[in-house]
Amino acid sequence: MLKIGLTGGIGSGKSTVAKVFESLGVPVYKADDEAKKLMATDPQLIDLIKKHFSEEVYKEGKLDKAYLASVVFNNKEKLNLLNSLVHPFTIEDGKSWMKRQQTSYAIKEAALIFESGSQGEFDFIVGVYAPETLRIHRTIQRDKTDKERVRLRMQNQIKEEIKMKLCDEVLINNEQKLLVPQIIALHEKLLAKAKSQ
Ligand code: ATP
Repeated sequence: MLKIGLTGGIGSGKSTVAKVFESLGVPVYKADDEAKKLMATDPQLIDLIKKHFSEEVYKEGKLDKAYLASVVFNNKEKLNLLNSLVHPFTIEDGKSWMKRQQTSYAIKEAALIFESGSQGEFDFIVGVYAPETLRIHRTIQRDKTDKERVRLRMQNQIKEEIKMKLCDEVLINNEQKLLVPQIIALHEKLLAKAKSQ
């Protein structure tokens, strides 16, 4: 089975692309969602977060997402620290999820594949590209946030143009080029690649 990474910056359209792959019957591991679950349930990770941040991150045994977000917001060092604690867990969890899949290929969707140094896990990495102005606009609309906050979140990611050069194939999601036909063509290519392995 082929292991596929799906990446791209904030608001590029990774989740949108992932949904189309899922509708084609391809299983998708969503690293963001799984990270939140692990932070709430994995005893080892919970201990690490409490140790490096504070006991206050968990209130009555439950992850206080709003409190944690307020601690890492606007603090690059703390955000990097949190990511460095969580990434090894999603990497391990994603690997064991991949092993359980029975299809020709399966996808892990993650914003920080290159940033976390996990590119070696994959046979093929797909990038989703959208121009920065469009990504900012989409994220403001989706998260009901403002430009400054989106820009701050973007600062933590490798520049899009560099990231796309590192990918094996790039889907253009600029709302000019049709997205679904690009995904279907890639699906066929990945099925053929899986067959020839
Ligand atoms: P993040 O990393 O922030 O989670 P993402 O890369 O997963 O973002 P999406 O959530 O898929 O991005 O897309 C961001 C927003 O833009 C969503 O509201 C989505 O519906 C919208 N969007 C994405 N692609 C398109 C498109 N081709 N046409 C119209 N809207 C789109």
